[in-house]
Amino acid sequence: MIAFRVGLRTASRATFRTTSNTTRSRPFSNTPLEQARRYRPFDSPPQYPRITAEAADGGAQQQKWSRIAPVYRAQYIWRNYRGVVMTFGAGGVVFYVYNLEKVPVTNRRRFNIFSPEAEKEVAGSSNEYKQQLEEYRGKILPPNHQKVKIVTRVVNRLLPTTGGLAGDDWEINVIDAPEIQNAFVMPGGKVFVFTGILAICQNEDGVATVLGHEIAHNVAHHVAERISGQIWAYAFAFGVSLFFDWSGGLSNQIAQLLLSLPNSRTQEEEADHIGLLMMAEACYDPRQAVAFWERMAKAEKVTQLEFLSTHPSTYNRIDHIKQWLPQALDRYNEKDCSITSQYAKDFTGALGRQIQEAPDEFAAEFNSVTSSLMQTIRPFYTNLAVTTARFMNILPSPADATSGRKAG
Ligand SMILES: [Zn+2]
Repeated sequence: MIAFRVGLRTASRATFRTTSNTTRSRPFSNTPLEQARRYRPFDSPPQYPRITAEAADGGAQQQKWSRIAPVYRAQYIWRNYRGVVMTFGAGGVVFYVYNLEKVPVTNRRRFNIFSPEAEKEVAGSSNEYKQQLEEYRGKILPPNHQKVKIVTRVVNRLLPTTGGLAGDDWEINVIDAPEIQNAFVMPGGKVFVFTGILAICQNEDGVATVLGHEIAHNVAHHVAERISGQIWAYAFAFGVSLFFDWSGGLSNQIAQLLLSLPNSRTQEEEADHIGLLMMAEACYDPRQAVAFWERMAKAEKVTQLEFLSTHPSTYNRIDHIKQWLPQALDRYNEKDCSITSQYAKDFTGALGRQIQEAPDEFAAEFNSVTSSLMQTIRPFYTNLAVTTARFMNILPSPADATSGRKAG
């Protein structure tokens, strides 16, 4: 752990050094030779097209221009824009390393440029919420409905286990739609549960399994991670397209390809794991999660379940949950759940500690890898990223984002 952190710091320092070296030695050196080299593209013998360039070097130049188009473009860019390429490359590495963070509980390291606030602004804004409410208007059950009361009770028991990481603005909507077996939580905390999935939940532990999973997506800020990945994919695709297609038309195709690759399996697994610990911590029997997923599997055979179209069952969910079960049962037993009135008052369980410690660890990580410069510019590029994401129209709808019913 410490070794890795040191490694990161060295890496970032090294990349900073590379950047400053290139910028120092190239544009500010004033020897005639340097000047001549620097201004050559604008002087008499142009480097481009290739025949003139070779002639200008008098044939003594060993550098040959390739006839293969992408290689030729790479050569052209490298010979004319080396400084720019190296600066962007080094900047990209610093940017990437600086924005690595660890997911609470599972400690997976991932790239994320969105703060929880920015994530909420992008995919969980009041506008988005209004749109969702509008979509299900007339089907939202009243607060005094028995099903709403159950869902509310479960959310209230689960939330203390998240240490405030899952959102700060909770509202619960139960949609009367027996044909939809799904549930999702918007970034920030707007809960949507469809009555179709409540039928499979059967009991409160089943509801806790589903909501534990959905709220765990928020705890791990999977939406932020997904949008970050999309922006990264577009930047990468743009870079690649420089070598293959000046028009940049290819970059969209590459980005689409990158984005269509299955990447949510890790997030699903993580949500299952965190959700299981959450429900145990909230004194719901974690063994009931296995029972719930078995009911889901059975229901899947009868009908094409919407929940499973967005929550891929490509990995063996039940097997994984059984592996985590001893850990969850430890939590469950540790809480002395027979005194159920204790559950909400005592947030000091192992999961709570683990989750609450996590933000500090992030901060330490950031500070160790970063400079004050990066901290200064972070709000700017986060805003830029939000704007870019909006402009490119690549944002998942809240439903997609929290593994809702529209995602592919
Ligand atoms: Zn999910």
